[in-house]
Amino acid sequence: MQGRVEVICGGMFAGKTEELIRRLRRATFAGKKVLAFKPAIDTRYSETDIASHAGVLFPSIPVKCADDILGHVGQYEQVDVVGIDEVQFFDPRVCAVAELLAGRGVRVVLAGLDLDYLGEPFGPVPRLLAVADIVSKVTAVCMKCGADATRSQRLIAAPEQVLVGAKDTYEARCRGCWSPHHG
Ligand code: ZN
Repeated sequence: MQGRVEVICGGMFAGKTEELIRRLRRATFAGKKVLAFKPAIDTRYSETDIASHAGVLFPSIPVKCADDILGHVGQYEQVDVVGIDEVQFFDPRVCAVAELLAGRGVRVVLAGLDLDYLGEPFGPVPRLLAVADIVSKVTAVCMKCGADATRSQRLIAAPEQVLVGAKDTYEARCRGCWSPHHG
C-alpha cells in the first residue's frame, strides 16, 4: 500500500481530534492495524486514550518524543495506519518520523493546532503542513459572534506557550474577535 501523510489542523474546539478518531475508527472497521499516539504531556481527559473535548475516545500510547513512535511501530509485523494527536506538542523529529513511516507504506494521520495563542505557527506543524499529502483545516464557532473560528483565545494570563487546558482556559474566536492578549 502507498503510504501518505495527512494533517488535520485548526484552532481549539474545531473537532480535530474527533476527525482523527473518525478516520482511525474507519480504518479499524476496514481491518487495518491501527496504532495511535499522543504526547505524554497531554493527560487532560485520559491517561492513555485520545480524547476529544466532546468525550469521544480511542485507545492510544502516550510517548515522550517522536522517535518513541518508531520503537512502538517496530514491535508489530505490520502497521497500516498511525494516528498522532496533539502533534503541536511534539519535537521537530515528528516530521521525519511521519515521512519515514509514509515511505514504508504507512498512512500517517496527524492532528493538532496550527497556531499558538499568540497567533504564531505552532512547533512542528507548519513543516508538517508543507510535507503532507493531504491537509484538512477545520474550524470551530466563534464564541463572540458565531462566525467560523480559526483561532484560540487564551482567557487567563500565563507566559508559557504550552498551557494544556480546555473550556476554562481557552475559547474559539474568529480573526476579528481574537486578540493575542488574554480575556
Ligand atoms: Zn467572532
